[in-house]
Amino acid sequence: MHYKQIKVDFLLNKITNKDKLFAGNYTIDPYQNCEFGCLYCDSSFDETIFVKTNAAEILKKELETAKKGTIIVGSVHDPYQKAEEELEITRELLKTIKKHGFSCHVLTKSDLVVRDIDILSEIEHSIVTLSAASIKDPISKIFEKNVPLPKVRLKTIEKLTKNGIKSGLAVLPVFPYIIETELDDIVSSAKNHNAQYLLYKHLELKGDQKSCFIDILKEFYPDLVRKYEKLYENSYMPNEEYISKTNSLIKESCINHNIKNKI
Ligand code: SF4
Repeated sequence: MHYKQIKVDFLLNKITNKDKLFAGNYTIDPYQNCEFGCLYCDSSFDETIFVKTNAAEILKKELETAKKGTIIVGSVHDPYQKAEEELEITRELLKTIKKHGFSCHVLTKSDLVVRDIDILSEIEHSIVTLSAASIKDPISKIFEKNVPLPKVRLKTIEKLTKNGIKSGLAVLPVFPYIIETELDDIVSSAKNHNAQYLLYKHLELKGDQKSCFIDILKEFYPDLVRKYEKLYENSYMPNEEYISKTNSLIKESCINHNIKNKI
């Protein structure tokens, strides 16, 4: 893994189509690419991590003229990947967000976010979503092997909530035929760790992603290869029948465990 320091001309992207899942008006990414290397993620394919060293300075200028709103921090690449431990680019961005009176929604898989509870708790309406594709260690170790274990992520939610920061879990992505049997456990674990909401998004296999994911299945879940080929036969999304069945399962589980399925 190589780090390359870069200077950017802009950081803040305005969301033009309302973001229903993550509830935000803008996005920012302190890093380009991600060293966590989750098998299903486009962001992990590149060996070079670009570090936006002047991010806070640029954001400060942009926020001076932007309309107030919620900034999604880490919309594409994890803002608390390992480099952040030393570089503190994300921490500086949060300070800038706080200073200019914007809200934020941080998306991450890392417990490093607790380091910044001091700033997050001073940002009005700050939200932090931890994501996990599974809460079972063996599954997580296949797909997300460089990320803190699911139980660490659940504990992180608990700590954030305890400190007055709205926090929840995102099942991201929902792997067909791999996690259905644990969906109810995921929802109840989220609730038991005081998550205030549970979000989810189905696995999308666009372009090359389909053949890459089929290769992963061949190695770890060879019995599922044909089922996936059928499920994704006509689209980059699972077929409608599967989506509707799984959505119902998750929604019912959220009702049973008294947890919201939106922010
Ligand atoms: S942590 Fe997020 S951005 Fe990084 S590789 Fe995993 S899914 Fe991609």
